[in-house]
Amino acid sequence: MKLKVISTGSIGNAYILANGNEALLLECGVNIMDVKKALDFDFSKVVGCLVTHEHNDHAKSINDIMKLGIDVYASKGTFAKTGLSVKSHKQNEIVSRQNFKIGNFKIMAFDVQHDAAEPLGFLIDHPESGKVLFLTDTNYCKYTFPGLNNIIIEANFSKEIIDKKFGADSGKEFLRNRILRSHFSLENCKDMLKANDLSDVNNIVLIHLSDSNSNEKQFVKEVYEQTRKTVTAAVKGLELDFNKTPF
Ligand SMILES: [Zn+2]
Ligand SMILES: [Zn+2]
Repeated sequence: MKLKVISTGSIGNAYILANGNEALLLECGVNIMDVKKALDFDFSKVVGCLVTHEHNDHAKSINDIMKLGIDVYASKGTFAKTGLSVKSHKQNEIVSRQNFKIGNFKIMAFDVQHDAAEPLGFLIDHPESGKVLFLTDTNYCKYTFPGLNNIIIEANFSKEIIDKKFGADSGKEFLRNRILRSHFSLENCKDMLKANDLSDVNNIVLIHLSDSNSNEKQFVKEVYEQTRKTVTAAVKGLELDFNKTPF
């Protein structure tokens, strides 16, 4: 299995989990042309698209994806904010704690906390990739997940950086509070990783890094030092082996 990053961050999020036979899209917060190009204009292997919430940087192409004939899986709230006026039969409403199967991907959705209608995270299990956690755009995760093999997790900002920029005497505390309420900090990310058993984890991929409130090198270094796992910051065009067994 490979993880491909079409785009990450507030500019747009879209990722692909693919092997030779099947491709699962994670988010579609980019122009549809970018998705088409990343799939080499071959949509026959795409089994579905998971969307966490309605914000443009995650759901921009949701209707175009359905028009391509691809099934989209998202919460009722997400579809209500982004869906077509006429309900498409490609719309698959899911709820937190629901288990469902798309091709050989077994998926469980879980609720997260974000300034969106009914935002979700996903635990994705495939015989090749093993258990993949996809967690973004939340300020907290109340769940832990046993037996993870690969992790895709938001590390949006560091508390240290925003405290410095938007501290008590900056006059911009509202900005600091909005970021704190809606996104996962490096510190949240490290706590989440600490709370889970990482014995069988091969990759930790940091996503949705803020342009101005993060430090890629420092984030990768800190997460590596805590976990001693392979840690990669997602960038546009990145491709990684994403398997259950490390070799
Ligand atoms: Zn969002
Ligand atoms: Zn976002």
